[in-house]
Amino acid sequence: MKHLIAVAVAVLPLTLVHAADTELANAVAKDYNGRLGALFDHFHRNPELSFMETRTAARLAAELRASGFEVTEGVGGTGVVAIMKNGPGPLVMMRADMDGLPVLEKSGLKNASTAMGKDREGNLSPVTHACGHDVHITSLAGTAQQMAARRSQWSGTLMLIGQPAEERVGGASAMMKDRVWERFGRPDYALAFHVSSDVEAGKIFVTEGSPYSGADTVEILIHGVGAHGASPHRGKDPVMLGAQIVVALQTIISREREPHEAAVITVGSFHAGSKANIIADTAKLQLTVRNESAKTRTMLLDAIKRVAINTARANGVAEDRLPEVKVLDEETPPTLNDPALTRRMKQAWSDKLGAGIFDANYARAGMGAEDFPFFTTKPYIPSVYFTVGGTSKAVLDAAAAGGAPVPSHHSAIFKVEPEPAIRTGVEATVTAMLALMKKPA
Ligand SMILES: [Zn+2]
Ligand SMILES: [Zn+2]
Repeated sequence: MKHLIAVAVAVLPLTLVHAADTELANAVAKDYNGRLGALFDHFHRNPELSFMETRTAARLAAELRASGFEVTEGVGGTGVVAIMKNGPGPLVMMRADMDGLPVLEKSGLKNASTAMGKDREGNLSPVTHACGHDVHITSLAGTAQQMAARRSQWSGTLMLIGQPAEERVGGASAMMKDRVWERFGRPDYALAFHVSSDVEAGKIFVTEGSPYSGADTVEILIHGVGAHGASPHRGKDPVMLGAQIVVALQTIISREREPHEAAVITVGSFHAGSKANIIADTAKLQLTVRNESAKTRTMLLDAIKRVAINTARANGVAEDRLPEVKVLDEETPPTLNDPALTRRMKQAWSDKLGAGIFDANYARAGMGAEDFPFFTTKPYIPSVYFTVGGTSKAVLDAAAAGGAPVPSHHSAIFKVEPEPAIRTGVEATVTAMLALMKKPA
């Protein structure tokens, strides 16, 4: 008897967990087959560029309205805010970005985009969802449907955001400038995810640290003195000076940065001169500078200025012609997952979706940036940004064994498997929201 009770206690919670999991999975699968698959196909065939997502926003708004949300369009340009009030409790926000990229799709998929679109400056180009934002907005529509169907299980306010222009790092701040919190309420918690072609389809990845880095764009304008190429002694060569600055900047990374602190300085553009035998009078460098802490950011930006100016001094440039170092636009802050909230979400995902939901083979590489932290940094809102898998294990394994590489985000051949990505995205988001807005017993 004692033995039997022990077995019953051990088995019961597992059975209940399995039942909850299956119910959500079945409901999402049904919605995918009936609606979301076609919705993804529509978004994939009809991508629009940053800040130009008018038809995308209108379709997303219509889907969210059909699920019973109160929807406002045109927030921060083309942004969409959908609200569902369902009694007392926290305000939980989920964000999905809506924009495509100026890329000609060569994925070979049947629903490959043939769309052309104008950017905000009026330049016409092919447009492709080459970063997977079509997965994000389709999943947002799926989340809306599941949360509406589960009103009896949660209490609080749900805010779903369709954000413009993530790829230009401008959409989130545009919505904030349009006073999104003042108008619709400031979230207690914020969530977002990105699909990744490097993560196994059907799985997710989440870190208690920083899923995305902070980024600044810096321009260095170097003033030289023009001269004949045959008489360098009569000029001050800005190409030579620029080349020295490019090399010297990397000593900031190798000699000044604390080795455990993540940081990148990339000089992505170097423009000077017009002809082989003319010493130019100016050169311009454009840099992307990445950090994961305010301290490192300050160190990098101060050091870049110091290196540029003093390299010019070492070359005899006059004090009134020293390089101009400009940090452009607004900084993109690092995306920092709230550690306590992340642990809470991990527990919820593990309980409801199983410990196998996490892709243990994926590790973040590189220092990509995101504009989601414009929503969560000032004022601070505890947030979790997670990654949803988009590539089958077979393809990932083949690539790891030296086969065809996995198609990179932003490339013409980028593709993910929409069904497992969207279904997992919806299941993970709904699970997180239900945990955050659980109705008091
Ligand atoms: Zn992207
Ligand atoms: Zn993206």
